[in-house]
Amino acid sequence: MHRISSILALAACAIAPLAPLAAQAPATATQGRPTADLVVLNARIYTADGMRPVVDAMAVRDGRVVFVGDRAGAQALVGSATRTLDLGGRTVIPGMTDAHAHVAGLGAALRNVDLVGTTSYAQVIARVVERAAATPKGEWVIGRGWDQNDWGDTRFPTHEALSRAVPDHPVYLTRVDGHAGLANAMAMQRAGVNKDSKDPAGGSIERDAAGNPAGVFVDNAQGLVSRAIPGATRAQTKQAIASAIAEMHRWGITAVHDAGASPQVLELYEELGREKALNIRLYAMISDNAAAIEAWFKRGPQSGLHDGMLWVRSIKLYQDGALGSRGAALLEPYADDPKTSGLLVSAPAHIQDVATRALKAGFQVNTHAIGDRGNRLVLDSYEAALRANPTADHRFRIEHAQIIHSDDIPRFAALGVIPAMQASHQTSDMYWAGTRLGETRLRGAYAWRSLIESGVVIANGSDFPVELVNPLISFEASVSRQDARGWPAGGWYPEQRMTRDEALKSMSLWAAYAGFQEKELGTLSAGKWADFVVLDQDVMRVPAEMILDTKVLSTWVAGRPVYERK
Ligand SMILES: [Zn+2]
Repeated sequence: MHRISSILALAACAIAPLAPLAAQAPATATQGRPTADLVVLNARIYTADGMRPVVDAMAVRDGRVVFVGDRAGAQALVGSATRTLDLGGRTVIPGMTDAHAHVAGLGAALRNVDLVGTTSYAQVIARVVERAAATPKGEWVIGRGWDQNDWGDTRFPTHEALSRAVPDHPVYLTRVDGHAGLANAMAMQRAGVNKDSKDPAGGSIERDAAGNPAGVFVDNAQGLVSRAIPGATRAQTKQAIASAIAEMHRWGITAVHDAGASPQVLELYEELGREKALNIRLYAMISDNAAAIEAWFKRGPQSGLHDGMLWVRSIKLYQDGALGSRGAALLEPYADDPKTSGLLVSAPAHIQDVATRALKAGFQVNTHAIGDRGNRLVLDSYEAALRANPTADHRFRIEHAQIIHSDDIPRFAALGVIPAMQASHQTSDMYWAGTRLGETRLRGAYAWRSLIESGVVIANGSDFPVELVNPLISFEASVSRQDARGWPAGGWYPEQRMTRDEALKSMSLWAAYAGFQEKELGTLSAGKWADFVVLDQDVMRVPAEMILDTKVLSTWVAGRPVYERK
């Protein structure tokens, strides 16, 4: 079995000879050689290419990098139609890849009225009124993020003021923690909730003195209203995908691996591609749906559709649940609940069956596994599938790979399995992970360094909208293992930190490798797509506690700006 790191070293060598050719012939632009469409000058360009990691100039033609090197070399490619971007010493990095995220989920979240940070009920109502004015009457207005503890009156609100202000739209506003929701009169009417509605198990309906629902529904009672909210229409989902892409551009993301796309979403990606409206490199994993998987196996793996924008050649499966809800499958019981050791979402035989068929069809399999038992079972299933169908370059992945038994860490490299890990989960979970797992298991938790040293690459990501979109949150967590406030001092199990070079690669070259894209993306090297980001400070050199202050000044896909900061 190939070692992943040596494959990547070879890939870097194979494309390197293109660059020196351009460098040796600085005068060619005036001798009839095609000039560049764009040259980037006076920048500190981190290429993520080990052959020439830092350069100060770059040239682009037809959407691809044609030169990386010094100013003179790039200037030699300037012609009358060339755009020159003088960056005054700013930092450039390859466009960032989020190798595990939920694109339509982000789009849906962005569609909601954002109520985070509101300081009064009146302010909440004002935001809803504004949205309702732009929404056809009778259509739902959904919001999230209110917290009555931030208001003058910290009691739960009642629906009357909201119902008076927004009488013609059903409204449902989820509290900041997701454990309560506020409905207006029309929403309660649509949901058939009234005085006679009973509190469900594990939930309660807030009531007025007369026993009528007062508007707030707590925990399981939320379902009484939320089940009346219709799913998004096709047009709304398409719009949601477009706004998710715009949001990613804002944060410097030029490539994303969608960790589970439904047949409808896959169809919309293709439609957007045909309309030339897909301007992000989208690596879409097919959701675990028997009919969809069968259809895609028949069609075969698809790479770089619509001018290098869409890849469909992988299947997303689930082995276990999540750590926060004690659904992650553990080899030993939970430290804080010895009665349970988690649950399996799919039978291991199912993972093995899909993996076996995927190898025959030329598809990759990416399975969610969080607990040490979940990870071991997936490795077992992959191993059995590979024994039946030995395949050199399968690049099977485990998504999250959060808690791994020390015996299983070397199996990733031995089997050629890529851990796709979201560094932001470590800094989100570290406050309570120890209570769930106990000291011993924490040593194999979020074990980036142990995995890298075993000979694998890590594909980094965020898992948005579970976490925030900003990819620098995972970059910062990767190098510091501290939260945004620098806690804990020295980092949480700091021996597992990545270097900045590794963290950058985990969001560029290594992520591209995890999507079979490393010949096209992942480094700023001659021949690859010119996807890059301009930053206002040098994330590779500023103190770690300053990384999250970094602003994206512009984002470029195929040599064209898709975002420019005002
Ligand atoms: Zn996910």
